[in-house]
Amino acid sequence: MKDIRTRAVHVAHELEVPASRPLSVPLVQSSAFAFDSADDLARAMAGPDGDYVYSRRGNPTVRALERTLAGLEGGASAIAFASGMGAISGVLLALLRPGDQVIAQRCLYGGTYAALSDLKERYGVRVDHIGGDDAREFEALAGPRTRLLVLETIANPTGQVPDLPGLLAAARRLGVIGAVDNSLASPVLCRPIEHGADIVLHSTTKYLAGHSDVLGGAAVFADDALRREVWPRTVELGASADPFAVWLTLRGIATLPLRMREHCANAGLLAQRLASHPAVAAVHWPWLGTHPSYAMARKVLSGGGGLLSFDLRGGREAGRAFVEGVRLARLALSLGGVETLVTHPASTSHRELDEGALARAGIGPGLVRMSVGIEDPEDLWQDVEQALR
Ligand SMILES: *Cc1c(COP(=O)(O)O)cnc(C)c1O
Repeated sequence: MKDIRTRAVHVAHELEVPASRPLSVPLVQSSAFAFDSADDLARAMAGPDGDYVYSRRGNPTVRALERTLAGLEGGASAIAFASGMGAISGVLLALLRPGDQVIAQRCLYGGTYAALSDLKERYGVRVDHIGGDDAREFEALAGPRTRLLVLETIANPTGQVPDLPGLLAAARRLGVIGAVDNSLASPVLCRPIEHGADIVLHSTTKYLAGHSDVLGGAAVFADDALRREVWPRTVELGASADPFAVWLTLRGIATLPLRMREHCANAGLLAQRLASHPAVAAVHWPWLGTHPSYAMARKVLSGGGGLLSFDLRGGREAGRAFVEGVRLARLALSLGGVETLVTHPASTSHRELDEGALARAGIGPGLVRMSVGIEDPEDLWQDVEQALR
């Protein structure tokens, strides 16, 4: 028998492979994979689809999430990342070169806006912003070096739903890659590839994982050729998904459709009641008939989503007081989890935007953002009402 030091390291690896299979996706928490043949190892290193070699390049648990997301979005394939920003930065860095142009929606997630500004300043990428409701504005700005169009299904926190079909069709005509951040809608409410997107981006941290306990991101590709182009750069970047985070995300995804139904129903009820409250100047939720994106939302979404925002008449002070006055809802920056969260974007998520950019993105000083959870809606309304008082 081998020495105990040797057995302590190796015995577990000699377990036989059973005939039955686990019911849940196995968590393969391994950084590297062992081979019997040097040739097999060499072959596995040749590209994105070889056998597993090293988990930064690929891992069975991570692959399960990639397949799941590609399936849910109607894409060909996907790459999972350590965070939503990992996915966004990975795709931008993989596809852009100095001198290229990106055209992006003006009202963007703050981190994406900052990443694009950085590309402009430090790497000589031209970045132009468009409103998102008129494809002609995009066509007028596009030129021979336009490489990417960046949109969000539901913009945060205005609830704007851009003209996905019009913009993505124009992008396709001009040979521009259309990328859509679908974090707020999730594939339950919208599948951007059906509207012509080439890449769908996700912060799986939000609705997909859904329990505020994990960070993750993903890029889903309509055509696998694009994944093959992006993959080597993302392996260099190293924002690879961790198997355990992915395992939690897969667990969350099983209940995504059920959760989305509750998020949408609760947000709808709160949006309606807030709209007739005297302290509230305006409510922004894309499935409210008064929202400027209502017609587009009805066309491309199958629900209004769980994120709503509203302007308090009392301005900045009222906004701060509200987020400190709620008792059930909690003041936290994230969204998409089972619990209701509130935030005041002008002083938190969108503080990267200067006053001008804030105003252009439609974010008022008294705007409160609410990620509506799956609690009982009457309990939620009671909490909102007492905080408004
Ligand atoms: C949160 C978020 C991101 C960034 O995702 P992380 O997982 O926090 O890196 C990107 N886009 C949208 C729309 C988001 O809400």
